[in-house]
This record gives sequence, C-alpha cells and structure tokens, in this order.
Amino acid sequence: MSYAEGILNGKSAIVTGGATGIGSYIVRKLGTLGAKVGIVSRKEENLIEAARKFKQDDGLDVVWRTGDVRDPDGIKNSFDELAGDLGGIDILVCNAAGNFICPTEELSWNGWRTVIEIDLNGTFNCCQAALLHLKAATDGGRIISISTTQADYGWPGAAHAGAAKSGIQNLMKTLSVEWGKFGIRANWVSPGPIEGTEGVDRLIIQQGLADQVKERIPLGTFGEGDDIANAVVYLSSATGRYVSGTGLAVDGGSQWDRGR
Ligand code: NAP
Repeated sequence: MSYAEGILNGKSAIVTGGATGIGSYIVRKLGTLGAKVGIVSRKEENLIEAARKFKQDDGLDVVWRTGDVRDPDGIKNSFDELAGDLGGIDILVCNAAGNFICPTEELSWNGWRTVIEIDLNGTFNCCQAALLHLKAATDGGRIISISTTQADYGWPGAAHAGAAKSGIQNLMKTLSVEWGKFGIRANWVSPGPIEGTEGVDRLIIQQGLADQVKERIPLGTFGEGDDIANAVVYLSSATGRYVSGTGLAVDGGSQWDRGR
C-alpha cells in the first residue's frame, strides 16, 4: 500500500538517523514518492553504505553529511550544506535516538544525560538548525519527530528515553504554536514495536519477550518500517496540511493496555 506517485515531487527532506532502521524506511518512502532526501548521523560508514543501497535498490540519489545531533553548530553546518545540495529543506524528520534498558535506581547520571542529549536536546538542535530553511518552504515547512507510544505512560527501565520522548512531544506542541505563523507544522509519530529494527531485536526478542509483547498488541503483530514511513508521508505532504501540534500513534492499538 502506498501513496500516489509523485505526491512529494519538488520537496526536499532531511532525515536524522536515516541510514538505519525506521529512518531508512522513511528515507526510501519519501524518496520513491518524489522528495529529494538527505540523511545525517555520526557514522560515515553507515551513511556511505546506506546511500549505496538506496541507489542500488530504489534508484535514489540520497545525499549525506556526518553530524551529531548533540552538537548545535555542527548540525547547523551539516543542515546548511544539505540544504544547498537539496535546494532547501521542506521536511525535517527528527528520528535519531539512543536507548538502553536500565532500572532508574541503577541509572547513572551519564546514562541519563546521554539519552536526554541525543533524543530531546538533539531534536531541539535540529529544529533550530532547520528553521531558516523551513520558513522558506513553499507550502509550509514540516517537522515530524519520531517518538514512541511509551512516552505517554510510565516506562519502567527507560526513564531517560521516556522523559526525553515526552519532552519531544511537548516541544512539537510548542513549536506548532510558535512557528505556525511561519507556516510550519510540527507533529510526532509514535511507533509501537517495529520488526526488523535493532531496538526490537535487542530490547524484546533477545530478552525472550516477543510472544508476551505480541499478545498485548490488539492487532497481534509487530509493525513494519513502512507503517511508520506512511504516517510520516501523511504529515509531510498536502494530506497533512491542516494538522499541527499533535501525534499519530502507529502501534496496532496497544494504547488500551497502557492506560490501565
Ligand atoms: P536505530 O536503527 O538504532 O536508529 C537510530 C539512528 O540514530 C542511527 O542511524 C544512528 O546513527 C542515529 N543516531 C544515534 N545517535 C545519534 C547522534 N548523537 N547524532 C546523530 N545521529 C544519531 O533505531 P530505530 O529502532 O530505527 O529507531 C528510530 C526511531 O524510532 C527512534 O527515534 C526510536 O526512539 C523510535 N522508535 C523505535 C521503535 C522500534 O520498534 N524500533 C519503537 C518506538 C520508537 P549513527 O550511529 O550513525 O549516529
């Protein structure tokens, strides 16, 4: 299932963390629907390999720059260079993140700080770095942050990531109010567990929790990368023009379970 061919023709997008996992599905979807896409993350070898695969498998010319979302000046340089390559930035997807499971009583200050810096501060840095370009976007700039359904509830073992993702959601609400006057829409997508990702492999499958987690998902399966990518397209394209300051959960209906 996909959107109409060419729905993103003429658009330029940056996806942070776009070389791997969910980010790579978003890149592929935006690119095959017509957008020019740039990706940013820390590891040059991942970026080179991803760009090679996007070209080989999908015929996409994805451009890349190294950058650490924790470094405001560095990320601004990377975005400005990518905007030059792409002819602007209409769509920013803040997807880069880090996480690990650790009970809060054992969580070090460094562990807490690292996840907050990548997820929350990194999203703030990217939004500021893209602002001038998003303001210039013809049909209104779009910011889509990738959150998680866990952000709406307590998340045992991931206080750092839960707090960061909740913060991201509030940041999107605030930007939707402050930057609405620039035509910018700011929203988030909250994935449930997505199969084939490093996070689900490490945090669920390797812990022997796959069946237990699936049993609690009303639709009975993990999601796919394309489920998240399709939600991002909705919010990035003309279909989402009147949507701002809100979140879209893509989690097989799991939220019934969390609200108890
Ligand atoms: P992933 O494959 O580990 O992707 C994370 C990406 O972020 C990597 O490409 C990594 O690239 C980049 N990154 C990490 N730290 C960075 C930094 N400091 N600066 C720049 N880039 C950085 O993870 P994923 O599972 O696809 O997750 C993608 C997003 O979906 C995340 O926001 C995650 O919280 C969210 N999510 C995932 C799931 C799931 O089921 N997988 C569920 C809910 C939410 P480098 O190492 O090259 O920097």
